[in-house]
Amino acid sequence: MQFFPVRRAWLAPLALVLGACQVLPPPEGARATQGSVRAGTPAEARIVAEALDALAPRVRALIPDARTRPLSVWVQDVPELYWLPRTVMPEADGFYAPGMHRIHLRREAEDLDRTLAHELVHATLGPSWEVLPGTLEEGVCDVLAAQVCPASAARLRAGRLSSASLALGSISLELSGSLPADAAPSGVEIRFLAHLRLDGPASVPVDPLDVFRSSAGLSSAKLSPHVKKALYGLAGMVVQRIVDRSGIAGLHELCLRAARENEDQIPADWILEAAGLDRDPEHWRRALLEGIGPQELAEFVRGHSELATPALLEFLGAGACEASPGLVLARLSACVRLPESGASLDLLSEPAVRASLMRALQHELGKKPGRRASTLPP
Ligand SMILES: [Zn+2]
Repeated sequence: MQFFPVRRAWLAPLALVLGACQVLPPPEGARATQGSVRAGTPAEARIVAEALDALAPRVRALIPDARTRPLSVWVQDVPELYWLPRTVMPEADGFYAPGMHRIHLRREAEDLDRTLAHELVHATLGPSWEVLPGTLEEGVCDVLAAQVCPASAARLRAGRLSSASLALGSISLELSGSLPADAAPSGVEIRFLAHLRLDGPASVPVDPLDVFRSSAGLSSAKLSPHVKKALYGLAGMVVQRIVDRSGIAGLHELCLRAARENEDQIPADWILEAAGLDRDPEHWRRALLEGIGPQELAEFVRGHSELATPALLEFLGAGACEASPGLVLARLSACVRLPESGASLDLLSEPAVRASLMRALQHELGKKPGRRASTLPP
């Protein structure tokens, strides 16, 4: 995300006042070869300074036309620049303020290094990248940050791609499994196959081509959080497809071509062609889901651990509460599969899913007359 002060003519004379309205820098500092860090404690400042020195050169190495300039990084409880007017972006783990050459990070960010890498990409993209339309720059930041910080890349992609898929409609998963006869209350083997459908939060699907029109990464963007997340997911998917096909250099070549042909921004058709996409929203939804591989599916299920519980309970049937939950869980096999990517996951291998099903089975057992929860077998 990038922070740009709202451009209003009457604001200019207030720039001096705004300067005075900046929040105070965090108390402790550390020098780095790539810039300076302000944070809550000397140790925190040193750790982030080391991360800055480790990540900045690696980010620069990935980017054609990369800027080299010293940066300052502030680590805050809530990333903010001004206290008047209050500039807080509640959903952001960080932002880059180009006017200050400064990166603001949320202390409790999901992955501080990956967030730093994302904002470093904003800070490093040279002027030739300014022709990227809409939210595409955010896609470049996410794709390159995932390259230099692969540890949580699958979780980032799972969140982004699923938000975008849900904003375009729904996600359907195949649920299949079995319980052998000797563990089934009825004494008959149970086999099941079903479709789990997750619907998006909004009644009106997002138009995927908005990724070229709306700049969800700007602090001034007046978009709902779910639309912002969806546009980030769409941007990341488009950029990843171009990078997979022609590298980051291929995307940069589109920037240079746009400049050569006096285009203010890269035309959407050039990007669609480079990404192997067209204007059909169904093809976009499919492309998003194709990006959800086994790791992303596991992350998605971890984030939605109750997802299959009602369906599994239904398959186990009323008899399920006769048997010991421990035995059922020990013998049950259940798998989800995403048809578009072919990714699948053994559900019972996920502790959060097991815990959710165990709770549900114990709850069912607890409802039986004469069986109080305290007497339930483990
Ligand atoms: Zn960003």
